[in-house]
Amino acid sequence: MKIVIAGAGIGGLTAALALKNSGFDPEIHERSDLASESGAGIQLSPNAVKVLFALGLRKPLQAVGFEPKAVRLRSFSSARLVAYRPLGLFSANRYGVPYLHLRREALHEVLRTAVAERGIPLVTGSPVHDCDETDAGVEVQTGSGTLRGDLLVAADGIHSNLRARFAEDEPRFTGMVAYRAVVATAALPAKLVEPTATVWMGPGRHLVHYFVDQGEQVNLVAVVESDAWREESWRTPAEASELLAAFSGWHRKVRTLLEAAGDCHKWALFERPSLPRWSSARVTLLGDAAHAMLPFLAQGAAMAIEDAWVLSRVLEHREEEAPATALTQYQQLRRLRTNKVAEASRQQGEMFHLHTPGARLARDLRLGIGCRLLPEIAMAQYDWLHGYDPVRGFR
Ligand SMILES: Cc1cc2nc3c(=O)[nH]c(=O)nc-3n(C[C@H](O)[C@H](O)[C@H](O)COP(=O)(O)OP(=O)(O)OC[C@H]3O[C@@H](n4cnc5c(N)ncnc54)[C@H](O)[C@@H]3O)c2cc1C
Repeated sequence: MKIVIAGAGIGGLTAALALKNSGFDPEIHERSDLASESGAGIQLSPNAVKVLFALGLRKPLQAVGFEPKAVRLRSFSSARLVAYRPLGLFSANRYGVPYLHLRREALHEVLRTAVAERGIPLVTGSPVHDCDETDAGVEVQTGSGTLRGDLLVAADGIHSNLRARFAEDEPRFTGMVAYRAVVATAALPAKLVEPTATVWMGPGRHLVHYFVDQGEQVNLVAVVESDAWREESWRTPAEASELLAAFSGWHRKVRTLLEAAGDCHKWALFERPSLPRWSSARVTLLGDAAHAMLPFLAQGAAMAIEDAWVLSRVLEHREEEAPATALTQYQQLRRLRTNKVAEASRQQGEMFHLHTPGARLARDLRLGIGCRLLPEIAMAQYDWLHGYDPVRGFR
């Protein structure tokens, strides 16, 4: 089968690798020239790392990834440790693979290199506009002409235009803005940043930071509730002073870190409602195009990576020559999981941002007692998410 993929983001590139691995003939068409993948960081949890390792990317990913020792949740003004969850060796022992922190552009580069090495065509500057389905295949209208294929996989992101085949919705502004910056570790006081993912939780906002570039840089994401997004673009440069103002009154360690954030961008956080259906006979959606979600569990790209594996395996093991039934099966399998993860991500954000001191105290007691007195149970809470292993089976 010749499979046209729209979009060379993390989802589209992983889909190309997984489909090739399953014996198909993928070809990627990307609207941009791919020069602008953001410099920000990304967390890759074991459920995604398993897929990437199974696609032969263990070595290049470990070469660019940083393995955090743990996740620490801290209180915004006192820096008190609210909860602690080990990653590092714990993740490797429990889930068989590490948890990784890396630059988005490094991940993108690893995926693109593998795509090139496996001879998968990647055409940049070639937007996919639309397609026509026939009994025999798809005719895909792209910036570089009309292509014929057996199937179209739309991995064209949260602003997907191919999603319009299945829904008339628009991305919905969630009332939250994320500031992202990368700071050189050498520019910070020694030991200011721990080798963990650290989440500072405060009323209506939170800050996450972790090492990337194997400890040479610190990635930070600061999320602030904001009543409106008035910028034209969903991603614009931001002043560090704006970021500092949003975190006035926070602990001095937070402020020291934010003061060092020079080149900063802000992103409006959008989500899309869950779709009842995202596959037709020969077209399907993948990644953010299908299920864009809030990033508070660091799972958007992980879901795109899981999608890619499941789609390729379902197609490989299909019983009918035509792909329609396999595409429905893929959608059903992924819909259940991604709806659950999207809902859990939303709840995680609410938990980080609790507004009243009473609610925060109750949360801190619950999390603190859980991880100190019942660490096994507290850690097992993430097994459904990080322990999911599509490579071993997903039915
Ligand atoms: C602040 C923030 C932090 C995050 N942190 C994490 C994290 O730590 N871990 C994690 O797993 N996820 C994280 N995410 C989510 C993650 O970034 C996304 O879920 C992921 O990038 C989705 O990948 P995708 O390939 O589906 O879409 P995209 O990355 O958006 O890629 C879509 C691609 O399609 C191209 N395209 C668009 N339209 C067309 C067209 N018509 N034709 C051809 N090409 C087209 C675009 O140019 C782009 O290259 C975060 C998100 C945010 C906002």
